[in-house]
Amino acid sequence: MEYSESIINSGVTYDHQCPCCGEQKHHVKGVINYAYLMLESLPLFPTARSVKLECSNCLHITVSSDMNHELYRRLLTSSFNVFHFVIKFIGAFLLILSLFYWWQSHESEQAGVERIVEYPAVNDFMLLDHRQLVSDYRPSEKYRIARVVDITGDKVSLVMGNFFYAFTSSFRDAIATNQTAAFNYFGKKHYVFTLAELKQLRLNNGILKAARPVGNFLFGSFVINDTGYRVGSAYIPGEREYASGLAYEQAYYLEDNMFRAFEKMETSAKMGFSLGQIRLAEYYLAGDVVRTDFNQALNWLEKASLQSNEQAVRKYATVCKQTKNCYLAGFYDNLIASGVNLTVNYDYKIRK
Ligand SMILES: [Zn+2]
Repeated sequence: MEYSESIINSGVTYDHQCPCCGEQKHHVKGVINYAYLMLESLPLFPTARSVKLECSNCLHITVSSDMNHELYRRLLTSSFNVFHFVIKFIGAFLLILSLFYWWQSHESEQAGVERIVEYPAVNDFMLLDHRQLVSDYRPSEKYRIARVVDITGDKVSLVMGNFFYAFTSSFRDAIATNQTAAFNYFGKKHYVFTLAELKQLRLNNGILKAARPVGNFLFGSFVINDTGYRVGSAYIPGEREYASGLAYEQAYYLEDNMFRAFEKMETSAKMGFSLGQIRLAEYYLAGDVVRTDFNQALNWLEKASLQSNEQAVRKYATVCKQTKNCYLAGFYDNLIASGVNLTVNYDYKIRK
């Protein structure tokens, strides 16, 4: 805390005689002492008030102790008004106001994180504390950005950014500067968490921030620059239709983009392309574009599973558990009989 004073010109008095030159006419100066933080022009609160007199002839200053007591009391009352003191609180007022806004935005940000952790959606971004996920880490490897790429039942799949950050503020910076939209920013590996595990991770301060894009935008930046899928040079039946479906999914500017995407995925699936089959199954599970149909979803997931697609096998198992008359053991037997190799990895575990 620092201190300063401001002077108010409060007129003239003839009731005092200058000890130096004998002049009666004096200018009355009201003095308010105040405390401030860093900015002298922004007073926090007043600390004292006093009055001094300045001789109009020789400019000699008379302080309160050298003044007639009665005169001093009278000038003290007449020199100031309420306004002079109110403006000395302006810094305190602004300080409280900005603290309030900071607190309010902090609270609403935290509430947003809770909502996303509880009801995640595909393309949600999260800032994870890497130290809560692994036991051995380098000091600079603190934070990592994750993106939700799939939700099936209560299983949430995340991909992890290939970069580590030292500060939580990098979350917004990396997204706002389009860093996270780069084709190879996120690793291909899927880390699968249950909703309960995500909640636990949040409780352990393992999820520090979370944000949901609106349309394709977050923090003023495009979230996805392209579909991230590259069509190879070799012809694979259904692949081009799949890539085209992905592009339609992101064509937010078209009114019926999701319906067209569905049509492309259906064609791709029927041509036997496993990624198209999985995506089509997801349409039947979500029920946004077509009516929810678990049996259709299972049917397409099984076709993709028979092509040794691990993601399809995992999804089939999750959906099957929620579907009546679905016999999971029979599904596995069928896969093994067809020569499908079963390895599903869950290697990121929460430390408790
Ligand atoms: Zn004088």
